[in-house]
Amino acid sequence: MKRLLVIGDGQLGLMLAEAASRLGLRMDRLSPEEGLLFHGTGRQAAKLPEDWRAADYDILTAEREHLPANALMARLAEHPGFKAHGAIATLADRRTQKALLDRLQIPTADWCVVESQADIERLARASGGPVVVKAAQGGYDGRGQWRVDATSAAAAPAALYGRLIAERSVRFSRELSLVGARAADGRCVFYPLVENRHIEGMLRYTVAPARAARSAQQRAAQMLQQIMEELRYVGVMTVELFEEEGELLVNELAPRVHNSGHWSQDGATLDQFELHLRALCGLPMPSPRAERQTAMINLVGCDFDPGWLAVPQARLHWYGKEPRAGRKLGHLNLPAPTRRALSARLAALAPLLDREHALAVQEASEGLQPPDEQACRAARQCGEIVQGGLHPVPG
Ligand code: AMP
Repeated sequence: MKRLLVIGDGQLGLMLAEAASRLGLRMDRLSPEEGLLFHGTGRQAAKLPEDWRAADYDILTAEREHLPANALMARLAEHPGFKAHGAIATLADRRTQKALLDRLQIPTADWCVVESQADIERLARASGGPVVVKAAQGGYDGRGQWRVDATSAAAAPAALYGRLIAERSVRFSRELSLVGARAADGRCVFYPLVENRHIEGMLRYTVAPARAARSAQQRAAQMLQQIMEELRYVGVMTVELFEEEGELLVNELAPRVHNSGHWSQDGATLDQFELHLRALCGLPMPSPRAERQTAMINLVGCDFDPGWLAVPQARLHWYGKEPRAGRKLGHLNLPAPTRRALSARLAALAPLLDREHALAVQEASEGLQPPDEQACRAARQCGEIVQGGLHPVPG
């Protein structure tokens, strides 16, 4: 039986360990900052024993790309079973990640490294609008990001100049993502594109599959395959995309299982955690398919509420973390046979949630309604429908 070690002690590692347990694989999770070890899906951490040896594991993987630069990590990076280490290092820094995408001629928003305020101003002028400034390393869930224009460029922290990038602010019609996996023999498989809604940089909900043309799916898969091949990557990788005027632009890459793939636990033939393990262990890897329409709702900064379980089809994944404002504490997967049925189930779920989550779920529900119903609702919001005629509300 293969022994695996996942670096990182968050919910992604926990869900990988749950999948490992189903497959009969042995997996431990490691907090690389503190040198704490969790066995399997256990919640109790223990200090690494004196005689602990990374060599006792066959395969190393990571649940996040931001890894500390300490002695323990330096040792783990040398492990022959940690094949993705180089790819992770490339993608963990937005500068090298963007340079890779440029080299592969994969479209992104225009960007530059920020050495001084003048760089931000130049990009803002060239793109004719605001720009998004991002920390090159370490930012996530909207942290380490500043939206600035040519006049407010000084709002980005000068202390970080040299370690920031700036991107044109994309006027996207929607955000999509694609999760795929590459096996050691080079074979790649992909989930369908999904649609994501972020609020203040944090993913709030995903709807899977996205309503998307076959050409968009093919284009996204082609881009992700090209990247995984270039990096000789094995395992699950995710590409986040902006759709702008019908074109797909890569926002960012994650060399790991991803929040926007959580729906697959309850809506696909194979979930992303198991797919990652299958790729790493050389196990059969059939192409995953969506079996239903599924919405994934992130539970952010709220206390556990058994009332969520009142919707019979809702599947709760609660991470058991200490509640804190702005922290992802769990997610709800809500599958349904059709988009219309999913819309109705989301509408039934909304009243069981606090205001912030209810608004997001209501929005997801409305987004799933057929376009003609959405148009009617939009019209109702700015006017009144009287006997088939539209009467705009004055002012
Ligand atoms: P990121 O951490 O880069 O994935 O950014 C988090 C979220 O911020 C994205 O999912 C978008 O909603 C928004 N965002 C990031 N970069 C841009 C951009 N260049 N233009 C517009 N929105 C952006």
